[in-house]
Amino acid sequence: MVVVTSPTLIILSLLLIILLLLSVSATDPPPPLPPPAEPTAVCIVGAGIGGSSLAHFLRLYSSPDHADFRIRIFERNGFVGGRMATVNVSGDIFEAGASILHPKNFYALEYTKLLNLTIKEPSSSSSSSPSLGIWDGKKFVFKTLGFDSDLPFVQKLVSLANSVLTVLRYGFSLLKMESFVQSTVAKFLRYYESRESRPIFESVEEMLKWAGLYNLTTTTLGLKLADIRLSPLLIEELVTVITRINYGQSVAISGLAGAVSLAGADGGLWSIKGGNWQMASGLIDHSNVALHLHEEIESISSIGKYYELNSTNGKSYKCEVAVVATPLDEVSIRFTPLVSIPKRSLQHTHATFVRGLLNPEYFGLDAVSKIPELVGTIEDPDLPFSSISVLKRHDEKDMTYKIFSRKPLDDDVLDTIFSFRAETIRINWGAYPHYNAPEEFAPFILDGRHLYYVNAFENAASTMETSAVSAENIARLILSRFFGQPPFSSSNLESHSDSGTLRADL
Ligand SMILES: Cc1cc2nc3c(=O)[nH]c(=O)nc-3n(C[C@H](O)[C@H](O)[C@H](O)COP(=O)(O)OP(=O)(O)OC[C@H]3O[C@@H](n4cnc5c(N)ncnc54)[C@H](O)[C@@H]3O)c2cc1C
Repeated sequence: MVVVTSPTLIILSLLLIILLLLSVSATDPPPPLPPPAEPTAVCIVGAGIGGSSLAHFLRLYSSPDHADFRIRIFERNGFVGGRMATVNVSGDIFEAGASILHPKNFYALEYTKLLNLTIKEPSSSSSSSPSLGIWDGKKFVFKTLGFDSDLPFVQKLVSLANSVLTVLRYGFSLLKMESFVQSTVAKFLRYYESRESRPIFESVEEMLKWAGLYNLTTTTLGLKLADIRLSPLLIEELVTVITRINYGQSVAISGLAGAVSLAGADGGLWSIKGGNWQMASGLIDHSNVALHLHEEIESISSIGKYYELNSTNGKSYKCEVAVVATPLDEVSIRFTPLVSIPKRSLQHTHATFVRGLLNPEYFGLDAVSKIPELVGTIEDPDLPFSSISVLKRHDEKDMTYKIFSRKPLDDDVLDTIFSFRAETIRINWGAYPHYNAPEEFAPFILDGRHLYYVNAFENAASTMETSAVSAENIARLILSRFFGQPPFSSSNLESHSDSGTLRADL
């Protein structure tokens, strides 16, 4: 009998184990690897300028270490753009909602360049120098001259004559108004400062205070303008006409919304040829987004480290970050747990488009040619409309008009204002907040975690550009709070201009 010593036994056993292992690996497939972790998902509700800007800035600012995330945008309509939309009146396309951009709307300018869009100026007139008339229900209390000419000296003369007429009626208060608007615009420009010097804001109040704009949201435009000694006539007439056109409201809106509204009457206004909605569609195409059209989100629930978004189509999506990019005032998204935001109502603006001809008798005139191309109105509850403007002059007896009103205009009313109508289109917009100074702001971060609200900023002012500015800040909040990205790192700033570079270009 052979006696096996214990070291030999150990060596033999080891050899046996190795042989066994080799034979197993030669015949059996390797155990399956765990599935790769799904990339983090950022889900955005709303494909207007707010939602699309957010996707753009998330991609623009994300550093290579944090770039692997999925963006989904949910849009209840079958098209993108939200309140940027066009209307087709007898084959002509016009802006139906947001129509004008300011020359200092730098993000909109950046988008135009990035997306190769074409600038159109100015968007709402049929002639080179449209006339303005202020209607009090009985007479035009003020009128400027209009003249359709390409000759620069004629345009200059008309503009000079109009300046003289305006100063004669409203005096040098106009300069104070101008200076108020310019100083507010200058403060707003701080939001384009480089990201090194600009904080990431966790609340709207903080964002407004940093730029020196918060105090303007605590008082009404009327009080603010009286405070800087604007003439009451200027406030009752010209200023009122402008706030009624731009926000459908009186000078009781907040000082900040009022200043933004007055800036919307500046020179150099522009729009995008073919429709402002193209900014949203271009940004979405450019930002590697999964776009879910016809998908209305009905609930957002916080479940552990995810948000579950459920749509009315019965689908369910899990996202680590959820963003609401639509006003919550008239949509019925259920939140679990509940979120708390101050009550706010939207100002409804009825936009009525008419192809036809105004009735001069309605305005106490004997010829259509005497009706100003832009008719604005003062505050009087009996006046059925806020403004009427000529969008296109087909010929002397056939024009396309846009009318803004606070209530819908029924056929009887329209039949007194127009001598004939070939086509009428009515759109009821939940247009912008009904401003109520002192304004109360909803939080940017709705639940203290990763549920964000872009349209909290609309209580400051509602414009395409302010939505973009708010979205830019929220993109930075997400990248720093969720992804832990340091405030300034980015992989993409060489290939895209950021706002700092953009301003240098302009
Ligand atoms: C008549 C009018 C005139 C205006 N004029 C100007 C102007 O001249 N200049 C200017 O700068 N601004 C103007 N504005 C304001 C401007 O339109 C808005 O401030 C801006 O477009 C808001 O963009 P947003 O993306 O924040 O919201 P929205 O454009 O409202 O986008 C929100 C999107 O979310 C979608 N949505 C809502 N609920 C859900 C849901 N549950 N699930 C999925 N999708 C959902 C909506 O369909 C919409 O597409 C005007 C607005 C109106 C109505």
